[in-house]
Amino acid sequence: MRIQSIGSSGLALGGLALLASSCATLSSIERTAASVVVSDDQEAQLGLQVKSELETKQNVKYCGDPQVTEYVRGVAGKVLALAEKDRPAVKWQVNVIDDPGTVNAFATPGGYLYVYTGLLLLADNEAQLAGVMGHEAGHVVARHSAQQMVDQFGLDAVAQLALGKNPGVLGQLGKTVVQKGAMLAHSRAHEDEADEYGARYSSAAGYDPHALSGFFTKLKAKVGDTNTLTTWLSDHPATSSRITHINSYAQQNGLNGKDLGADRFVAIRARVAALPPSSGVSNAPAPRPAAPANSPPN
Ligand code: ZN
Repeated sequence: MRIQSIGSSGLALGGLALLASSCATLSSIERTAASVVVSDDQEAQLGLQVKSELETKQNVKYCGDPQVTEYVRGVAGKVLALAEKDRPAVKWQVNVIDDPGTVNAFATPGGYLYVYTGLLLLADNEAQLAGVMGHEAGHVVARHSAQQMVDQFGLDAVAQLALGKNPGVLGQLGKTVVQKGAMLAHSRAHEDEADEYGARYSSAAGYDPHALSGFFTKLKAKVGDTNTLTTWLSDHPATSSRITHINSYAQQNGLNGKDLGADRFVAIRARVAALPPSSGVSNAPAPRPAAPANSPPN
């Protein structure tokens, strides 16, 4: 349909327009294929498998301060209230990884969001954290991970998983995802799309949508243009064009929201900074979904 309409109205544009159209069409086909092939249940199973790999093989430790974890979950909860409308079947789970030296956050299939204490230490305010959480939620809502699975492991392996023909595939995929860090390596197009989710969700939750680009600016100032560090920047390159994209997207779509939540955030950041080294715990604290999303930390 799309190719036909371009072809009938834009012949003079020649192959370039057709090529661009083909790319867009291919992307939507991939997404549709991924959503058909990888069910919500399969994504949830894979997310659980990755979590288990992280905890047992990668020896990931979670933040041992319940107040910090609950605070992050509360901020994420405001954003996820919007994401839930877009993907109601996802059971979101937010965990804080105890690693002050790593500025990172990532999402896996099934709605598992992870944020490192190093990111909390670098951020300026709650709105930046909300933007990052919205970005990661966007990867899940848009099924980017499922698309990557299809891209990287092939439709056959993922289809086998979906059909239940080869239960071992699930374990293999989870292992490979962790080993390759595959859940981190999103394409530039996926990053731009996730940025739009981040700006939109955080704005709808009352936050300043420009905070996400503000966080990128901060990252750039910290590590420059090198992508050699293991930071959110290396997996989510914070180019100037990306910062511009977020700001123009917010303007074009009339996104508003003023809340920065700097005071609330600074208090929590101080707690993170005061945590003793190696104070992380092996098991993620159980989520407390009943906690009010907007209650101030105490
Ligand atoms: Zn991303």
